Amino acid sequence: MIEIKQIQKIYTNGKHLTKAVGPVNMDIRQGEILGLVGESGSGKSTLGKMLIGLEAPTSGTINYRGKPLWEKKKYKRIRPGEIQSVFQDPQSSLDPRMRIKDIILEPLLGLPGSERKEKANPERLRKLIHRVGLKEEHLSRLPHEFSGGQRQRIAIARALVTEPTFLVLDEPTSALDVSIQAQILNLLKELQQERQLTYLFISHNMSVIRYMCERVAVMYKGDIVEIGITKEIFENPQHPYSKKLLSSVLSVNGRENRSYAEIL
Ligand code: ADP
Repeated sequence: MIEIKQIQKIYTNGKHLTKAVGPVNMDIRQGEILGLVGESGSGKSTLGKMLIGLEAPTSGTINYRGKPLWEKKKYKRIRPGEIQSVFQDPQSSLDPRMRIKDIILEPLLGLPGSERKEKANPERLRKLIHRVGLKEEHLSRLPHEFSGGQRQRIAIARALVTEPTFLVLDEPTSALDVSIQAQILNLLKELQQERQLTYLFISHNMSVIRYMCERVAVMYKGDIVEIGITKEIFENPQHPYSKKLLSSVLSVNGRENRSYAEIL
């Protein structure tokens, strides 16, 4: 579904250049949850941002269903709302002055009139908020009235309202308590199955990656150093950096895994 070819991102701050990504080559297959794991600063978010249109690649191409997503630094989706995202901190991504209903419906503003009307249908909205575990009475409230987990449910409803096919989930549960994390991960997993969605799931947490993703790409200093079936990489990591990442997980494994096993 997505082909990432020789993608590079170099940030320039005055004379200072930072190579954040690449060159990276990677495919994302339709209907999969592809994990992207690596330590902070390895370039995961920058790669995600190039997929959703927030950062233009310095060079290289990204094809979405065979067509380039970027042309001359301009982002071209096949249709608005086809690609959506959920970020780590719903606190900062939800406008504090907007009511939940308007927050959830806002992505529809980019759609053609007739489609917007159809997707903003009250019955459809009601079903969507119930599906993500919210209530109708929540629609008239403001973001500060919600817990972190509920705010992430709002962010998920907002991402789904356009009926996307591909979502970039950037550390979607990293700011949440472990028990709430598990609920949101399960919701995301169920939604992916029900709606045949494709996810790029960004996380620094190997346990979360193992729970969510069939395949995983390991990112280190802007490069994908290893990509493959999650189970195989966990059992037999090839790259020294993957080995290092895994050994640090294994040293806290007992505790972390038990808490996940109890909850999930
Ligand atoms: P990760 O998501 O893995 O933590 P990022 O993609 O956020 O990594 O960052 C990759 C590198 O790019 C880091 O060195 C970071 O400091 C740098 N970087 C990210 N965003 C910017 C920016 N807007 N301007 C300059 N440098 C940036």
